[in-house]
Amino acid sequence: MADNNPAGVDNTFRRKFDREEYLERAREREREEADGRSKSKAKGPPVQRKPLKHRDYVVDLESRLGKTQVVTPIAPLSQQAGYYCSVCECVVKDSANYLDHINGKKHQRALGMSMRVERASLDQVRERFELLKKRKVPGSFSEQDLDERIIKQQEEEEERRRQRREKKKEKKKEKAAVEEETEMDPDIAAMMGFGSFHSSKK
Ligand SMILES: [Zn+2]
Repeated sequence: MADNNPAGVDNTFRRKFDREEYLERAREREREEADGRSKSKAKGPPVQRKPLKHRDYVVDLESRLGKTQVVTPIAPLSQQAGYYCSVCECVVKDSANYLDHINGKKHQRALGMSMRVERASLDQVRERFELLKKRKVPGSFSEQDLDERIIKQQEEEEERRRQRREKKKEKKKEKAAVEEETEMDPDIAAMMGFGSFHSSKK
């Protein structure tokens, strides 16, 4: 009978099941989260973490670039393929993820910092600007730098031109000296009105 009348089959069963299951899972998750929250609250006073502070070192992403390394699964984590975080003792597969990791909550927590940022005072901001202005990042430049660079470039160009002129002069001199040194054809010398020692003796 079901075969003859497919419309009568309850083919919505699976959909209903999925929805139920997902709802159940969501409820479970909520319960777990609530438990976790209350548990961490029950643990006692929350850990006082320092506010986020900026990095005081340069992140090395490129020192191993282009190098070959043998990787075995039994090697210590720090020698596995990818970027190793010694703080969290984990390996991240590429530089982008490594940056995300060291900027991330888990890593900052391991360093004893919360993700909260201290509110800076106006003076602090000004100080920071001054510091950054003074600090010359290679490749970047201020307007003042630009003027200096243009002048420097012009001077260098002028110096190059001077050297080129000098070289040309030098070459001309050399050429003239070589021409003087090379013995003149006696006939031509005679024709030009001055004889060489050979021709005069002939
Ligand atoms: Zn880490």
